[in-house]
Amino acid sequence: MREIARFQCPACGTAYPADRPIWRCDCGGHLNLELELGLRRADIDAADASLWRYRAALALKAPPRVTLGEGWTPLVTRHWGDVAVQFKLESQMPTGSFKDRGTAVMLNHLLEVGVGPIHEDSSGNAGSSIATYAAAAGLRCRIYVPAAAPRGKIVQIAASGAELRTIPGTRQAVTEAALAAVGESFYASHNWHPFFIEGTKTLAYELWEQLGFAVPDNILVPTGYGSNILGLDRGFDELTRRGEISRRPRLFAVQAENCAALAAA
Ligand SMILES: [Zn+2]
Repeated sequence: MREIARFQCPACGTAYPADRPIWRCDCGGHLNLELELGLRRADIDAADASLWRYRAALALKAPPRVTLGEGWTPLVTRHWGDVAVQFKLESQMPTGSFKDRGTAVMLNHLLEVGVGPIHEDSSGNAGSSIATYAAAAGLRCRIYVPAAAPRGKIVQIAASGAELRTIPGTRQAVTEAALAAVGESFYASHNWHPFFIEGTKTLAYELWEQLGFAVPDNILVPTGYGSNILGLDRGFDELTRRGEISRRPRLFAVQAENCAALAAA
């Protein structure tokens, strides 16, 4: 059994052992999971065709209690004009999005530290992912979604058995509703909880292994709030510090023209 990991608040410096369900600092700041050592290629569990093949790199105490076989998605080569480009098919996940990496690791951490009912706010994919894994774990779950969220995602969330709250107005109004519910159940937020990034980092490990323990020059990452690109950065950082790679790929955050908040900022 490994040592208990620690959360640290970059705003005020307070540290917390990751042995309880918390999602932000008492000062209101976000928490980071302290840096970890990562793994050597000999630590990979090659018999496991899921992200749990990298369990040695994850800050969890025990084997996962809930898994739906997430991760180890295909990496395929296609030509874009004259250029060979590789596509990582993250839609080949249990609920259809990359969010399952973060959800699976975050929920297994929360189960380890004794979480009760949870809630989350999402415009679609994260809500579907968390609702599905909560169902698999037997946790009560409520998801706040924008009234204008895609119908298919709303149906997917409801089909998992989660309680659905549709909120009119902006995406921010949905987050406000989830924040107002913090006293009722645990806010298992994919945008706040550090263990979500701990899960998305396995994308870096997978790319490295699937490329024959090498890294690409450049990675273009579709980016909303940033959990995928933050996870890639964390994963490649660990591989560098472990001495498994000697250079890091350049990461490019790419946003859709009609929803480019980071680019605008
Ligand atoms: Zn703080």
